[in-house]
Amino acid sequence: MFMRVDKLQTELPKPTKADPNAASALQELLGGKFGEMSTLNNYMFQSFNFRNKHKLKPFHSLVAGITAEELGHVELVTTGINMVAAGPDPDRGTDVSKGPYADMSDMRNAASFLHAGGAAMVADSNFQPWNGTFVFSTGNLVLDTLHNFFLECGARMHKLRVYETLTEDNKTGREVCAYLLVRGSVHAHAYALALKKLTGVAMEKMLPVPNIELGNIPECQKYLDEGSHRRLYRWSPTDFAEMAGIWGNGEQALPGDPPGELEVVDGMPDGGKMPDLEGAAGAFTPDYRPEEIFEIATKLYKKM
Ligand code: MN
Ligand code: MN
Repeated sequence: MFMRVDKLQTELPKPTKADPNAASALQELLGGKFGEMSTLNNYMFQSFNFRNKHKLKPFHSLVAGITAEELGHVELVTTGINMVAAGPDPDRGTDVSKGPYADMSDMRNAASFLHAGGAAMVADSNFQPWNGTFVFSTGNLVLDTLHNFFLECGARMHKLRVYETLTEDNKTGREVCAYLLVRGSVHAHAYALALKKLTGVAMEKMLPVPNIELGNIPECQKYLDEGSHRRLYRWSPTDFAEMAGIWGNGEQALPGDPPGELEVVDGMPDGGKMPDLEGAAGAFTPDYRPEEIFEIATKLYKKM
């Protein structure tokens, strides 16, 4: 089962301008082959399909716990795309005869406005839809874990490249990349340690891939300072503690990152405020005359 908390895993700074093309670049981190939809669904289906989990608890707990975190990453990057695409003033007015969205026909992805009203789509940066063939779940523990290690390294590559497309004033987009880079680096490290326990091969010596430390990304610094690169979360009040057999046991942070022992944290991170994405009446989100549905909703929650 899953429980839902109405927070983001980290707080995203408000956008200073609308930048639909930058939002398109961020789409790679949502619906690309190495995006959050892929990490989520790979680990989710591997954890659902897992055999002999009572005998292999540390390995099942690891992939099950990371699944829950990836669901929150899908939420984070989707929220970031919405914020960057619409900017601080999403409503461009309601006079439809004035072509309030004329510029959208020149955007890399006109469909993000035409289809989704400026919101995120389950697609990559070229708006190829995400699909289930990106899920690798053979049931072979070594092979699936090796795939997950590769997937996190590939995801790290994509996050770094998307980060490089964002200018300094795109604080929202850069924060999405920085947070996901830190957490993705943890996951690559975790799967490397799982492979070491399974095979004796010290896969973590290969990291980081690509070979650039997190400290080179200014927006990563606060996450390193708070030790996020050393933490895995259980995402449960009662279950999945066994992952400490892999992420713990005296294992240390990677040599290029701030030193310290790896730790499993009960529950989930504190997280940050969930932004309230503003509607745009001219784009009919949530409607052209939203006052009517606001009034209906107000009556509903007043009854509670
Ligand atoms: Mn992720
Ligand atoms: Mn990950």
